[in-house]
This record gives sequence, C-alpha cells and structure tokens, in this order.
Amino acid sequence: MVFNPIYKNPESYPQRPNLLDYEKTGDTFSWQAMRSELDGLPEGRGLNIAHEAVDRHADGERKNRVALQWLGRDDTSRAVTYGDLKAQTSRFANILRQLGLGKGDTVCTLAGRIPELYIAALGTLKNTSVFCPLFSAFGPEPIYQRLSKGDARILLTTEADYRGKVEPLRNRLPKLKHVLLVDASDHGAGGLLSLPRLMAEASEAYTIPHTDPEDIAVLHFTSGTTGMPKGALHAHNAVLTHYMTGKYVLDFHPGDVFWCTADPGWVTGTSYGILSPLLHGITNIVDEADFDAGRWCDILAGRKVSVWYTAPTAIRRLMRMGIEPVRTYDLRHLRVVHSVGEPLNPEAVVWGIKALGMPIHDNWWQTETGGIMIANFPAMEIRPGSMGRPLPGIEAAIVRRTGNDAVEVIDAPDVQGELALRPGWPSMFRGYLHDEARYRKCFVGGWYLTGDLARRDADGYFWFVGRADDIIKTSGHMVGPFEVESALMQHPAVAEAGVIGKPHPLVGELVKAFVALKPGHAASDELRLELIGFARKRLGPAVAPKEIDFKTDLPKNKAGKIMRRLLKARELGLPDGDLSTLED
Ligand code: ATP
Ligand code: MG
Repeated sequence: MVFNPIYKNPESYPQRPNLLDYEKTGDTFSWQAMRSELDGLPEGRGLNIAHEAVDRHADGERKNRVALQWLGRDDTSRAVTYGDLKAQTSRFANILRQLGLGKGDTVCTLAGRIPELYIAALGTLKNTSVFCPLFSAFGPEPIYQRLSKGDARILLTTEADYRGKVEPLRNRLPKLKHVLLVDASDHGAGGLLSLPRLMAEASEAYTIPHTDPEDIAVLHFTSGTTGMPKGALHAHNAVLTHYMTGKYVLDFHPGDVFWCTADPGWVTGTSYGILSPLLHGITNIVDEADFDAGRWCDILAGRKVSVWYTAPTAIRRLMRMGIEPVRTYDLRHLRVVHSVGEPLNPEAVVWGIKALGMPIHDNWWQTETGGIMIANFPAMEIRPGSMGRPLPGIEAAIVRRTGNDAVEVIDAPDVQGELALRPGWPSMFRGYLHDEARYRKCFVGGWYLTGDLARRDADGYFWFVGRADDIIKTSGHMVGPFEVESALMQHPAVAEAGVIGKPHPLVGELVKAFVALKPGHAASDELRLELIGFARKRLGPAVAPKEIDFKTDLPKNKAGKIMRRLLKARELGLPDGDLSTLED
C-alpha cells in the first residue's frame, strides 16, 4: 500500500513541497548550504539558536507576525509577536546575566506549557546558558534526580510546584542558587525570586555574546522507556538540523500555522515545539491543556492549523472517537500531519485518510539525534508502517555487531539488524551528561548505534522492528512487537496493544499480547480466541500471540509510549524498575 498525497491533491498545497526543490538540485545537499540560509550572529560572533529563531525575524519584516499563539487551559489566549518575543527573551537573558549565569550554566524549567517557559528557553539560549526542561507532571524524586544530575543553577517554576516538589529536597541541591517563581509578586528568602518583578526591571537591550556552534545549548533527558533516563547534550549547531527538518520534513512555508502537541519535557516539544517553527518565522501554536479529542479538533479547525505534528498515542486516542465525529470539523487548512515517538501502526495512517482527509506521515528520531533523521517526506510516497527514508545529509544503515568494537553493514534489503547513523550530523548529541563511558559505547566501527532494530527495503525505506531490548526470540524466530501489535490493531475491537516475550521452557519466549479494547467491546474468552485466530491468519502461527490479556489501559510513560518493559516485569512478578516516567 502506497500513498502519494500531494500528487493526488496538488491544490491542497499552496506551493510546491520544499523537498522537490531540493531534489531538483540532485545530490548537492550540504550543511553549508543550510548554514547559508541562516544569518549567524552579527560581526562574526558565531551561531546562536535564539538569534536565528527570534532576533533575526524581529529585526526584519516579521516583527509583527505572531510567533507564539498561546492557548490557555481556561480558554484565554495570548499572541506573542516576534518583536515581543525578542524583547521578552532579552529581558530574561539579562536576568540570567545579572544573577551571574553564563556559558554552560544550566537553567531548568518545571512548569506547564505557559509562555514564560518558552521565553525562558530562548532567553537561556541567548545567554549561552544550557536549557533543560523538566516535565511538569513529574513527582519530587524524578525532579530532584534531574536537577541534581543536571547541575541546575536556576530553576523556573510555579509557587505550587516549588512548595510541593522541590522545597522538600532543596537542601540536597547545593548548586541550585535561585528559583524564579512565575506567579510570585515579590522576592522571598532562600533565593526565591519573583519572575514578573525581575522581568519588569530588566532591560530589553541584550547583545548575544559570542556563541561557538559547539557550545552546549540544550540538556534533554530521554523518555525513560527502557530504563533510567539519560541526559543528552546538544550544541547550538543543532540549529542546522532543526532548520533543515522544518524545511524538508515538516515542510514549512511562509504563513504556516504549526502545532506540535508535545510538551517541551520531551525532546520533540523542544526541537519542534519551540525551535524549528520559529527558525522559519511561522506561527507556533502552544496549547496549555492536555489531550482532549474535542478540544484538539477545535484547535485544528479554529486556529487553521496547516502543519500538525503529534504522536501515535494521541492518534490512537482520536481513533477511539471514530471517524465521523472528526469529519464534522473544517480541516481544509490542514496540509500535512506528522507523527513521532513510537511506531505508527498502518491502521493509523489509513484512519488519517478517512478522518482527516490525508495520511499521517511517520518519522523517526531520538533524544540523542536532536532532530528528525528518517521520515516520510510530504513530497514522497508514504508506505504505511514504514518510518520513511533518511533525510538529506543523513546516512543511515542496518548493521550487525560483529564484535565489541566492530559492526558489519547489511546491504541486502529486508534483513533485520540494528539501525545505525553515520556520526557528524549537526544535532548529534555531544554526550550523556556525567556518563562518558555510556556515550562512547554508542559509537562502534564508525557508526552511532541507535538501540533500535529495523530493516530497509529495496527502495530505501526503513521499517521499525522494535527496540533491541524488546525483541522476542520465539522458536528460533526474532519477533518485533510492533508487527504483532499492528496486526492486532487491525481488528475492529482493538484500541491498543502491547506485546512482550514471556520466558517459556520449550520455545524460548512466548509471544504475549496485552490489549485495550475500544468502547462498546467487552473482554471475553470468545474475543480472546477470535483475536488469536485473527492474528494467526495475518502473522502465521509462529509469530502470532499465544496468550492475550485484556487491560483497560496499557502502562505508558509520560511521553505516551507503551512501556513494554513494565508489562513484562509485572507479568513475570519482577521488580518494576525505574518508574519515574510512568504516566499516572
Ligand atoms: P529511553 O532512551 O530513556 O529508554 P526513549 O528511547 O523512549 O527512552 P526518546 O529519545 O524520547 O526516549 O525516544 C526515542 C525512541 O522512540 C526511538 O529510539 C524509538 O525506539 C522510538 N521511536 C521514535 N519515533 C519512532 C517511530 N517513528 N517509529 C518507531 N519508533 C520510534
Ligand atoms: Mg532511547
């Protein structure tokens, strides 16, 4: 099954997809060419993400364009123009400077998706300090872990979050000098400062200091799907990837309204929820509220969103709503929908066509890669179930480990192996904070090993198989959970599925599925047998699940990813492991 939405429906496109222009020039892609589309700091002072995202637009004709269109939980809204954003982020940068923060010092945020968070992120980058967002729904312990591991000097948060989650452990954070409270009208004792007061007093004039492209800009913790989260460090040079992927994958055009539903607590919410759209001078929607099917459809229609970036977990929840309710919304402005974070089941791509009038474009990347690496570009055929093809400037391969420090590239198509990337793309992580050994282990034989298993077909499309840790070995077969989950998802009763390998004396591991049902379907032995039969027909008896358990909901981490390791630990009666990122 192949979809080619743009050729079918060219009038839905205001201009040609950007990648077509790139393809015209053939293999001439170069990062230098991308660099030449950015400005650089005046007087040769280097390359700074915030200058490219904010100041260069504010000083030009985009000054009065809306940069951030913020939608509050309580239905209030606030539009921040590029001009306003420049002034506000400069004030914030001045506050940091006054508090003695400079290059490399970490500023953490712990807040919902409020405008102050976005201003702090960009102001921190202006000051060449390191921005580290923490997810606001974390409890005290995961927050303490990250503040401590991240050497946070400053924390921006709310009064309630501070009192409830940080204050009890504050004495164990000697490096944390100041806490900026977004909702305090006055300064207090113990380094508690009122952000509104500081902002009012700070100057709007700020000159960004010299920024080496290799200066660290962002510290991002991974999602903790497979274990303790790791702190990935990214440099200002990542701006090249953020810009390039905005251009070719998200396909930004002037006048676009973009909405990325991810929270900046996850890397998607930073690279694409803050930086990439601003680099292109378009309008970025920020919704403070959490998932709500009706609200989301209202935003897509009412705010005339043209490019939408979301995740499989949200799409699966919309799918539970059915097709008809979604079709009642006026989505004629919507041009491209993208998904990331987990494999996108082919069923979801097809649902997109029926409900949104367009397929959903899957793309793949990780906290470590800093930006999208493999994608179904709007300009190319979509293969449902495939994560697409590597981006210009990105070399990806399927490899097999042949020793401790050697790998072999598998050239033959359709062979499963580890997904690897050739190091050197601009947003490649520059380290795991305080874990040099672990960082080094990721690079073998001239490749960065992603820890994901995949295969590449004869046309160069990559297909996700599973995380190396999740692969099931049954009767001599290697089974990727994604394939089994996608087959189950095709059954009309199934809303979500999570598949694990359960140790078994005869077959090694037995394929076991956990299934959540759509409304209107009840768990029963008949349904269990029917699902096993349904999966056998599609996958064959060797791969189909032998056991199925029904669950009201599958355990997910706060980034919305199914936590197979937890399903497995609980099935086997083992300790849960690190649960700091588990969704409530
Ligand atoms: P941790 O590394 O702490 O276990 P995590 O890997 O979930 O957590 P992220 O960096 O947020 O942390 O997620 C990246 C991973 O998400 C990828 O390595 C891959 O396993 C999965 N992923 C992301 N996008 C896709 C996609 N389009 N298809 C399949 N898997 C995806
Ligand atoms: Mg990972």
